[in-house]
Amino acid sequence: MTMNAFVIGAAAVAEQSPVLPSSDTHIPARARHLDYIAQNSFERPTLVVDLEAVATQYHALARGLGRAQLHYAVKANPEAAILRRLVAEGAHFDAASRAEIEMCLAAGARPDQISFGNTIKRSADIAFAYAAGISHFAADSREELEKLCEHAPGATVCLRLIVENSAADWPLSRKFGCAANEALVLMGYAVELGLQVAGLSFHVGSQTRAPWMWVETLDQVAALWQRAKEAGYTLTLLNIGGGFPASYGSAVQGAESYGAEVMALVEARFPDVSQIMAEPVRGLVAEAGAIAAEVLLVSKKHQNDLHRWVYLDIGKFSGLAETMDEAIRYRITTARDHEATGSCVLAGPSCDSADVLYEKQPVQLPVGLRSGDRVVIHSCGAYTSTYASVGFNGFAPLDVVVI
Ligand SMILES: *Cc1c(COP(=O)(O)O)cnc(C)c1O
Repeated sequence: MTMNAFVIGAAAVAEQSPVLPSSDTHIPARARHLDYIAQNSFERPTLVVDLEAVATQYHALARGLGRAQLHYAVKANPEAAILRRLVAEGAHFDAASRAEIEMCLAAGARPDQISFGNTIKRSADIAFAYAAGISHFAADSREELEKLCEHAPGATVCLRLIVENSAADWPLSRKFGCAANEALVLMGYAVELGLQVAGLSFHVGSQTRAPWMWVETLDQVAALWQRAKEAGYTLTLLNIGGGFPASYGSAVQGAESYGAEVMALVEARFPDVSQIMAEPVRGLVAEAGAIAAEVLLVSKKHQNDLHRWVYLDIGKFSGLAETMDEAIRYRITTARDHEATGSCVLAGPSCDSADVLYEKQPVQLPVGLRSGDRVVIHSCGAYTSTYASVGFNGFAPLDVVVI
C-alpha cells in the first residue's frame, strides 16, 4: 500500500486517490497567513503571522475577560509588529527581562502598562525596570523580595502561588510560585521591607483545555486570599495568568466564551477583588501563525519497517521545542493530503538524536511525501521563533514574516 504512490507518481495519485477523511476534528477556516504561505516560496523554515487574526483574537479574549486587563507575556512572540499592534489595541505587557521591557517600550507601551512578572530576576534588570518607571513586580521568595527592596524600593508586588495539580498540556511544574503558608509569611516580610503587597498571581499551566480545569487552582488561591484578609492584609489585585488554549487540530472552546467562563469562576470566588489581570498568550497568538517548512528526507531503517522516517528542515532546536515529550501535537498539512496516508516518525534536521518530534505516537502523512515537499505546520504563532537556537548545526533561527 505504501509503495504505490512512489511508483505511480504524485500527479497520478492526485487525480486518482479518493479524498480520505481527515483524522483531525477541527479544520480552521482558510486564513490570510495560510494564503500567504501558499502563494510564496521560502528558502528556510518561516513563521508567517497574521496581525489581523491577532487583533481579532485579542478583542475576543478581551470581551470574554470583561473587566480583567490583558497583559501579553512577551516571550511567546516578541515580533515588534505584534507588540506595536497590541499596544494599538490596548494591551498591557508582562516582561521577564530587561530586553523584553525594552521591546515593549520600543513598541510604544508606557511603563505603567508593563509588569515585570518573572519571579527570578537579575538585580540589574530590576534596577533598570524601576528607573524606567515600572512599578509592578512578582516574587515568590524571600531573597527576591530583598532584591526588590534594594533595587525597586516601595514597589508593588504580587506574590506568586505554586500550582500543584495542573491539568494543562504544558504544565509549568513546581518551578514557579510558593506554597500558601509561605506566601502568608512573605506578605509580612514584604511589608517589613517597605514593599506594597497588591495581591496574588498564579498560572494554571499553559494549554489548559477547559475552564473547569481552573476550579481546583482558583479554590486554593481563594482560600489563601481569605486567610490573608483575616490576617489583616488588604489585597486588591488578582493576576490569573495564562493557560488559555489554542487549537492544535482538535477543537477548543472559543476564546470569548472560555474567558467568560473563567471570569465567572473568578468573580464567584473573589467578590471583593478590585483589579484583575490576565495573561492569555498562547490562546492569543498561536492560531494566528503557521510555519512553512520542507521535507528533507523520507527513509526507512529496514525494508519491513512499519513506519517511515520523515525528516523536516525544522526541529526541536529550530522552533518546535514544544514537541518535547510530544506535549504539543501540531497539525501538519501538505499538498498531498488527498492521497493515502501512512504513519511516520517525524524528526528534525539537526545532528542531535533528541531532535525527534513525534515517535511514541507517530503521525499520519501522505505515502507519496518526498524530499522537497512543502509542509505547513499550523498554530505556530506562540512559542516557536523564541525557542529557535541561534545556530545549532549552522541552522539559522526561525525566519518570521508578519503580514
Ligand atoms: C508564559 C507566561 C504566560 C503565558 O501563558 P500562556 O499559557 O501562553 O497563555 C503568562 N504569564 C506568565 C507569568 C508567563 O510566564
